[in-house]
Parts: sequence; C-alpha cells; structure tokens
Amino acid sequence: MKVGLDIDGVLADFVSAFVETIEAETGLRIPVPPTSWDWHRHWLSDEQDARVWHHIEENAGFWCNIASDASVGPARWAQLADMEWGHDLYFLTYRPGRVAKWQTEHWLREHGLWNPTVLITEHKGRVAKALGLDCYIDDRPAYCLDVRRDSPETRVYLRQAPYNRAEELALIAADVTPVPDVITMLDREGL
Ligand SMILES: [Mg+2]
Repeated sequence: MKVGLDIDGVLADFVSAFVETIEAETGLRIPVPPTSWDWHRHWLSDEQDARVWHHIEENAGFWCNIASDASVGPARWAQLADMEWGHDLYFLTYRPGRVAKWQTEHWLREHGLWNPTVLITEHKGRVAKALGLDCYIDDRPAYCLDVRRDSPETRVYLRQAPYNRAEELALIAADVTPVPDVITMLDREGL
C-alpha cells in the first residue's frame, strides 16, 4: 500500500514548539490549544509573526527538535518503521526553512525509520495523484480537500484537532474521514 502522511499536527507536536518559539522571540505566552488555524495572529503583530517565522526558517535545528505528537508513542513509531518493509510511506509537508527536508528526514530516523521519503510541497493533491497514494492523512482541511479533488482514488483522513473542528462537517460531506489520531487511520487501513 502507498501511504501518505503529513508531519505537523499528525506525527509531530508543532504547536508546542511554535508556542515556545513565540515566547522566546516576543515574550508572549499565547493560550493553547489553538482554536483556529491562525489563532496566534490574535496576539501577534505582523512584525512579531514575521520575526517568529524568520527564526524558524533560519534555525537549522528547529524541525529536528520537535517532540512527537502525544498520540504516537514508541510502539507506534516501531510499527511505522516495520511498515517501511511492506509498504511505501511518503511524508508530505510544507515546512519552510533551511534544509527542512534534511531536518525532517533526520527527525524521522531519530524515531526509528530507516530510509524516510520526505517531500516538501504545498501541492499535496497533485503529489498524491502522481504517487498513486492509497490513503493520506493531514490535519489541515485545505490539504485534505486538495487531495480529495486532485486524487479521487486516495482515501483521505482528517486528523481531528481543536483548530479544524469547525470544518469537520464540510469535510465529511466531501468524503474525508475524520480520525482522532494517525493510529486510528492505520488501524482502519489494516496496516
Ligand atoms: Mg499538518
């Protein structure tokens, strides 16, 4: 099976690292969990937001040092590593910054994968179609819909989160399946 996985908000706890970076760069401790995709913009000015992203993009270690999502413990990382031998895993992310691809591959190796394939792209639908993905999971509704539209054969899952709850019903109507975590998606796919 060809399996596509988003990283942040699915396998990685981006929100915690982002909130820590915001505090380090601006002194602001913004509330979590996020209630919308751009929730931080309620508290940050354009200049502060730019400063935070500049730090992330210039820091060659930011993506290496993110914690796993709380739902993915060591046993599930081992399961993903085992899956490399029987399935094709593709990690699709639009992480910006210096050597983001290398950092993400390094991070996946640190979690036990041997030879991870990371694709840095915002065109997730077209990539899913080109790869012939059987299934795909993302926490961003727009990317789920992008894959649904461009790659009709791919079974698409939304990783549920407080910041995408408002869009969940619309995604169900578009034949996207909400799941509480990546584990549920892997179980449903019989992986
Ligand atoms: Mg994501």
